[in-house]
Amino acid sequence: MERPRHFEADQIRVMGDAASVAEELVAEAYKMSANQWLRHRYDVCTLAGLEPGEIVCGPFAQIVRYRGQKHQTSLGSASYDFYKICLQDHAILDAVEQRRELSLYPFALYVLCHELVHVVRFSLFLQHFDATWPEKMAEERRVHEKTRKILEKASIPGLSRLLKFYRKWQPPPDAWAAASPADPPPGRIGGLTTGISGL
Ligand SMILES: [Zn+2]
Repeated sequence: MERPRHFEADQIRVMGDAASVAEELVAEAYKMSANQWLRHRYDVCTLAGLEPGEIVCGPFAQIVRYRGQKHQTSLGSASYDFYKICLQDHAILDAVEQRRELSLYPFALYVLCHELVHVVRFSLFLQHFDATWPEKMAEERRVHEKTRKILEKASIPGLSRLLKFYRKWQPPPDAWAAASPADPPPGRIGGLTTGISGL
């Protein structure tokens, strides 16, 4: 597949701002302190930071699960799930360009809050990553509902138009995929810091 178009530097900055705010809002919603927050359990990447297999057509983001291993130990029990939120720049840009009611910042905030709610729920074992399709659809509805509640509390310009757009939105905005344990994202397991990458 030809590599799709990606965010420009100013758009990456908007995504980075949205990621910081989304982290704060979701942590607050789940009453997680800075220490409890899942800082080393996920990463957010734009298209420039994605492997070819992490790029999809259609969804705005995809969550890929990897198995991480802590440094300096070979104990199986020390392994952990690591979630890579793979933003699909091309799909987000298409949506923002085609829908007048959408602008990048509030839309990015919605997508990132939504994906972080998924990650928190997987990490707290409130939802199985390997769910059946009907379970995944039920989870989508729960995650949309939680995202809407989180964002309604925050006063974000342009948010009411965005929430109207999502009321009409039928297909799931994202996908979950498990990567092979033998195929971790290069250089991304262990000692990770969160934040937007892909510049
Ligand atoms: Zn979702």
